[in-house]
Amino acid sequence: MSKYEFRDIVVAVTRSKGAVFTLEPARLRAPRNDEVLVRMIATGMCHTDLIIRDQYYPVPLPAVLGHEGAGIVEAIGPQVGSLAVGDHVVLTYGSCGHCSPCNQGLTSYCVDFYELNFGDSTGDGNSAITDRNGLPLHDRFFHQSSFATHALSRENNTIKVPRDAPLELLGPLGCGIQTGAGAVINSLKVTPGSAFLSLGAGAVGMSAILAARLVGATCIIAVDRMPERLELAREIGATHAVNSQEPGWVDQIKAITQGGADFALESTGQPAILTQGVSALAAMGVLGVVGASPQGTMAMLDPNDLMIKGKSIRGICEGDSQPWKLIPDLVTLHMQGRFAFDRLVKFYPFNEINQAAADSEAGKTLKPILLIDGYV
Ligand code: NAD
Repeated sequence: MSKYEFRDIVVAVTRSKGAVFTLEPARLRAPRNDEVLVRMIATGMCHTDLIIRDQYYPVPLPAVLGHEGAGIVEAIGPQVGSLAVGDHVVLTYGSCGHCSPCNQGLTSYCVDFYELNFGDSTGDGNSAITDRNGLPLHDRFFHQSSFATHALSRENNTIKVPRDAPLELLGPLGCGIQTGAGAVINSLKVTPGSAFLSLGAGAVGMSAILAARLVGATCIIAVDRMPERLELAREIGATHAVNSQEPGWVDQIKAITQGGADFALESTGQPAILTQGVSALAAMGVLGVVGASPQGTMAMLDPNDLMIKGKSIRGICEGDSQPWKLIPDLVTLHMQGRFAFDRLVKFYPFNEINQAAADSEAGKTLKPILLIDGYV
């Protein structure tokens, strides 16, 4: 239970479309109901934070973004039963917990997913964070708004992790890493001996490559336009790397796989890559779409290619992850040395958040992690 009504915190605010993040003092109210107050140790920065900053989706501004938080429980609301003060936790996406998909364990397809993660997560229109002038900041982005020294999550998106795990590393498991790994393990169900194609070798695509190796795919092809990313992809498990800037890159994939890939994951968000990815599939091949494009983006497909070859395409949200299972599993695999997602990250002090964003956009950093504890 909380002993205070409001607490002084520091947040990184996005004040307008495309604006730099500004570190500002703010106030956060105490947790209510099933809410959990988390003292943030570190948070990942995901491409999704940057596309929301740029208003691909109309999240209200000014807002506190950030949705890959990792921290320590500092207080709990009266309805919280499964967490205690001092627990180490990773924060993930929000879900209502009682709609039809949630009742089937398909929480990333919660009927309220968009509203809960990109809209007003409380449903009451009230923000828990106010700025130095007492004005509300849009908060609880992905039920957390983790670009902050403290955040309010809810019990069902607050995942307990072992105390001996490296907490400062774990935040990205809450979104980008579980999306790539979950897409391979849960959604596509990549099989041993198969050919897997990762269209995009960013944080999500690299996590998919790590997972494809884990589940036994024997041909793992990374596609990107950045040679250094392709090099890293090879180091962490890709058996082949193909640069999409080269003419005839789809033919290269068909030659490597002797006809086409069994499974593919599109994480570039580029409709032209999706189109070409479908043509790089083998008969009965499946392509999963995780890359986000501006709303209204259209992709071209020849329906005959789908029909005659029995190919399929499916959208994937958060790797179909049941976070309470997948996140601890990925932590264990990492601690056993079998899921080296630490190869993807670079740490930045919280007050260098704009440098982290710039490096991420320039392709210099794959997965920035902002160290918050002790850096404000
Ligand atoms: P990222 O920017 O790290 O990775 C994207 C990669 O695509 C980069 O390596 C980039 O070089 C590559 N790329 C871009 N255009 C290309 C092209 N024409 N040819 C080849 N490669 C190209 O981003 P990320 O963090 O890996 O996220 C990937 C996407 O997934 C983003 O759109 C993000 O918003 C989305 N995402 C979706 C979910 C979900 O649940 N569906 C979850 C997390 C992230």
